[in-house]
Parts: sequence; C-alpha cells; structure tokens
Amino acid sequence: MNYTELHLHLDGSMRAETLTALAADAGVALPDEIQFFPGIGLEEALLRFGTTVACLQTTDSIRRVAKEICEDAIACGVTTLEIRFAPQLHPIASPEEIVDAALDGIDGRAGLILCGLYGEAPSILNGHVEIAKTRKGVVGIDLAGAPQPSHQWNIADYADPFGRAHGLGMGRTVHAGEGGRPPTEIRQAIELLHAERIGHGTSLLEDPSVVELVIKKDVVIEACPTSNMQTGIISSVNSHPLPTWLKLGVKACVNCDNWLLSGINPVEEHRRALGIPGMTDALLAQCLETGRNAAFAS
Ligand SMILES: [Zn+2]
Repeated sequence: MNYTELHLHLDGSMRAETLTALAADAGVALPDEIQFFPGIGLEEALLRFGTTVACLQTTDSIRRVAKEICEDAIACGVTTLEIRFAPQLHPIASPEEIVDAALDGIDGRAGLILCGLYGEAPSILNGHVEIAKTRKGVVGIDLAGAPQPSHQWNIADYADPFGRAHGLGMGRTVHAGEGGRPPTEIRQAIELLHAERIGHGTSLLEDPSVVELVIKKDVVIEACPTSNMQTGIISSVNSHPLPTWLKLGVKACVNCDNWLLSGINPVEEHRRALGIPGMTDALLAQCLETGRNAAFAS
C-alpha cells in the first residue's frame, strides 16, 4: 500500500523508546503515560507537547527523530511524507541550525513544513519563510496550535507571511476548524492566508458556504480521525465526517497528526478510516490519490 502522511508533527511522533532515551539525556521526568486518551481535549493534548519538546533541545535529538520518522514511514508503506515542526520551540540554536538538523535527518525522504503557532508574533512565520527560501527541503508553512481569546494576534494577522509564501510558491496549510472552532476559521484560512490545505477542518459541514468555498478553491482537508476522537471533537472515529466530505466533492487525505502521542500509525489510521460507515475502498483510494497530489512540491 502506498500510504500518504501529510499532517505529522515531529515533536509528537518519535518512537517511545527514543523519547525515553532523550528524556534521560535531557533530565526530563516523563509522566506515567504520555499518550493521548479518548476525550483528552485539545488543551491537555497541547500541554503534552511541552514534555516532548523539552526532550528535543539539541540538534542531535531533532536530527535523530526526523531520521527515525522517515525510517518508520518507509517501513509501514508510506510513499508520500511531510513532517512539520516549529523550530522556534527549540531555542538552543538558531532557527536555521534547527531546521538544518531536521533536514539532515530527513535526508530527502520527506518534505519539511515549518509551523508558526497561533498567538505568536507574525514575524516568526516571516522568519520561517526566509529560511524556506534557501532550503529546498522546506516545502511549506503551517499555522498550528489553538487560538485563545487572550492572544494579541489573530488569524488575519498572519496574512503577511502567508501572502509572501504564496508569492514564492511555497506550500500553505493551516490548522483550522479544529476543537469545536467555527467553520469561519476555515474560510479565513483560505481567503486571508491562501491556504491550499486545511488541517483537521472538522467543523466544515456546519457551513455549506464554506464547503462550497473549499470545493471551488480545490482545497484539501488533512483529516486526522484518531486525533479528532482523542481531542473529543468526535465521539468515535466512526463518526468522523470524512465519507460525507468526499461524497460532497471535498478533497481529503488521511493523516495521523502524532504517531506517538496518538498511539497510531498510517496503516492503522487508514484501516480505521476505511471502517467509518459510508467509506469504501474506492473512497479510500481517492484519499490516497489526493494525498499524493496535494504534497507540496519542493
Ligand atoms: Zn496538527
């Protein structure tokens, strides 16, 4: 099977034994259980990244995890892979050195996406765009995390870096419509940030005009069924709207979000997606083709 994996966070996808080793090296105490559990909620899920990120504060650790993700992807039949992370969360070296460590580990086997985080100054994403300009392996930018009412910056404030990425032909994806956030966010990501792909997009069906926009603009939704079940957006993987999206003409691919934290891998995620009532072998094949075509060109 030629699986695609376009929505995968480096800091949530290391091998369990690697996390144990890195935590020992870094002197980080691991909780009894690092994995998400069903209904964990988006906030608590994001907190768990604090622990994994604390274990990734050397260029060697980033290189190692990027390398192992590529090896594990190949081992389970993934032929189209993109890995994303936020270099600014690893301030132990310059952002360029952090990105280069990840690219070194990837060694041409995956595209790298650089994430800005909701609430951060847009200048950070502008910095990512600058780094991407000179590195072929960086294929796009993302806006990740979750918007909070306390944030000084909102989604519209990231129009500058995303507009620049658009102008330079870099890939653009945005976490939007996740965690019970409204479909308006998906519209803003497309209209203001030129998003070609949307991460999660689980609230899409709440607004038919946004469904229409997604179809008209040929935007691809990066569906993450297991992750959505764990953060409590859907009660079970079987209630994920993926088959409904596909039947309406929305393009979507199937993704894990986080191999370690979600306790999932591409084989199992695609098996679960196929098990959603309404899914068929043909619709899953369509998702795989979409994933191959939606990969950001380097
Ligand atoms: Zn994500």
